[in-house]
Amino acid sequence: MGRSYKTDAVVLRSIRFSEADRVLHLYTLERGRVNAIAKGVRKTGSRFGARLEPLTRSALILHEGRGELHTVSGADIISSQEQVRADGYALAVGQIGAEAVLKLFAEPEPNPRAYEGLCRFLELLAGPLERAPDPQHDGLGLAFQLKLLALSGYLPHLDSCASCGTAGPLAGFSPSAGGAACAGCMVASGGFRMADGAIAAIEGLLERPLAPVALAPDAAAGALRVVEETYAHHGGFRLRTLQPS
Ligand SMILES: [Zn+2]
Repeated sequence: MGRSYKTDAVVLRSIRFSEADRVLHLYTLERGRVNAIAKGVRKTGSRFGARLEPLTRSALILHEGRGELHTVSGADIISSQEQVRADGYALAVGQIGAEAVLKLFAEPEPNPRAYEGLCRFLELLAGPLERAPDPQHDGLGLAFQLKLLALSGYLPHLDSCASCGTAGPLAGFSPSAGGAACAGCMVASGGFRMADGAIAAIEGLLERPLAPVALAPDAAAGALRVVEETYAHHGGFRLRTLQPS
């Protein structure tokens, strides 16, 4: 028989499942990552309609049966994110953030801080943005990913060399040491050089509350490389949404 429960949830991804149904990859406040089937959503006049589009936040009623896939039996919209989906740049930044949550918080375990951060990120995406030349270098998107890394326990160590502890000068970043590195340790550990000011810019993104932010091109490129290499080294994955098309 199973049972029903109510949860606050964000649709991270929506996959066509059959003629009329979709499988939703959800991040929920109460249970963390959950997959659910929404039956009949692809029919015109579906009672769920746009409420279950990617990046939408809703209060859902989910039915838990025997399988891993729960069934959506009710949806009340909290935030439709329609304006985000209508803006190609904002949508692309949102999809990068959603995929980062999907990969970093893959378990059905609640993490209220990650959920709160995701909701704040989506709220900010719907407002005025500091647009970068492309969505991968967006300051808000990079700040969100760095904060997710911190919440996952992969916070890069940035105020001294992560390998030998020297206070500086810091020349680059070492994924294997998990942070900034002096010139010697950077080379010895297979790290990469970073532009002057890029490490300080990343520290700033981690320390300040999440917000749209304009980054210098060098700082944005450095932050992007830090998140990508941290995903690869500590998580063993790359984000599909960060691959050059
Ligand atoms: Zn060192």
